[in-house]
Amino acid sequence: MSSETNHPDVMDKLVSLAKRRGFIFQSSEIYGGTGSVWDYGPLGVELKKNIKDRWWNAMVRERDDIEGLDAAILMHPKVWEASGHVAGFTDPLVDCKACKARFRADKLEDGQCPRKPSKKPGEHTDCQLTEPRLFNLMFKTFMGPLEDSAAVVYLRPETAQGIFVNFLNVQQASRQKVPFGIAQIGKAFRNEITPGNFTFRTREFEQMEMQFFVDPQAPDGQKSDMEWFEFWKHQRMAWHRALGLTESRLHFHQHTPQELAHYARAAFDIQFDFGGTLGFQEIEGVHHRSDFDLGAHQASSGKRLEYVDQVANRRYLPYVIETSVGADRVTLAAMVDAYREEAVPGEAEGRVVLGFHPTIAPVKAAVFALVKKDGQPEFARKLRDELRSRFTVDYDETGSIGKRYRRHDEIGTPFCITVDHQSVADGTVTVRHRDTLAQDRIAASAVTAYLDERIR
Ligand code: ATP
Repeated sequence: MSSETNHPDVMDKLVSLAKRRGFIFQSSEIYGGTGSVWDYGPLGVELKKNIKDRWWNAMVRERDDIEGLDAAILMHPKVWEASGHVAGFTDPLVDCKACKARFRADKLEDGQCPRKPSKKPGEHTDCQLTEPRLFNLMFKTFMGPLEDSAAVVYLRPETAQGIFVNFLNVQQASRQKVPFGIAQIGKAFRNEITPGNFTFRTREFEQMEMQFFVDPQAPDGQKSDMEWFEFWKHQRMAWHRALGLTESRLHFHQHTPQELAHYARAAFDIQFDFGGTLGFQEIEGVHHRSDFDLGAHQASSGKRLEYVDQVANRRYLPYVIETSVGADRVTLAAMVDAYREEAVPGEAEGRVVLGFHPTIAPVKAAVFALVKKDGQPEFARKLRDELRSRFTVDYDETGSIGKRYRRHDEIGTPFCITVDHQSVADGTVTVRHRDTLAQDRIAASAVTAYLDERIR
């Protein structure tokens, strides 16, 4: 549920910037678009990849106690029976007989009637909302040539189950001991009733999930399950801050008893303030799932999934602390947070800036030749080639320098490097900073080290 915000709604401006500059396009646009499915263009794919890389580094590469996994999207149909998704992965749906639109009964306050004037569902005098009925969000398809009920498979609605069914494979292959985690990034699919708000809620999206397996009865001197829960809650909040999201736009939302799944021992969402009417919304869930998932798969498959603690000579089903974050939702949060319009001293026109943290900016540096002659393009292209092996770099020699700066401000390039007549004479270039507009003159040979120091 959204709550009060002081931040303006920048979504429409972002949708148009994202299309114009190649961050995000509507899927199948030439056919009129597909509902709430989006394609990432050249800059968007870099931005999202940088965010996923930061997550993978923090969660897998920089830790001894987490292993990576890339499980398949299609799984045995029994997985989804055991996990409870076939019976219970539903949202309550209401139809309006007057306008034919559909809404989520539990999110009516976030819904919008398609008719004018703009109102919430049920607020027009002739709205006719039906009683809610449950609608399963899983996409069904068929495996093999026969389209019958025996061949039904689902597109996974979350990546987590691929981790649970591989728990012992990963543990034994990597010789990890509890406590340890398994992490993966992958696509998930949900036939959402009311997708929308650009890439905030889509039917196909990417999740970055980590399941951390802990001892339900940790011996003295080791962290208890609840201490691990607190640990991951704070780690994950720190990760969002380190990504550059403004601290005051982030907060925890504790699940109320009504929101808490029956098996969950605790759950907090990390919410981000998207501004406008959307306000604070979940970007990540941190959940204590008890031994529900491993227990369900053990019972349903008939295969033992217990962890064997050889030192203590105990067998048990570990508890799971889950951190689950949407790659697309965080990418959108990063864009919303980074977007600003500002005046430029001494210039009539202002500028639009995407003030991304340098590590996630799709282009790290742009190299310009001031004029297209006197050896400047050759000098600039050589510098671009040197930088290219370490950074995403753009070379640009068209339009005035002011226009080139504006173009790169708008896509969030943190550094613009200009080659001029002095460069050809003494080997120096100017580096202009996106946020402060400050300019440094440094040797071209020092640019790699200069950027390295500032992009981390
Ligand atoms: P919501 O209440 O918003 O539907 P949820 O509680 O069902 O979300 P989870 O199942 O906890 O979400 O999924 C974990 C994360 O996956 C969410 O925090 C979000 O970032 C992302 N996510 C979930 N559904 C979608 C979606 N339809 N589109 C984009 N991202 C999503």
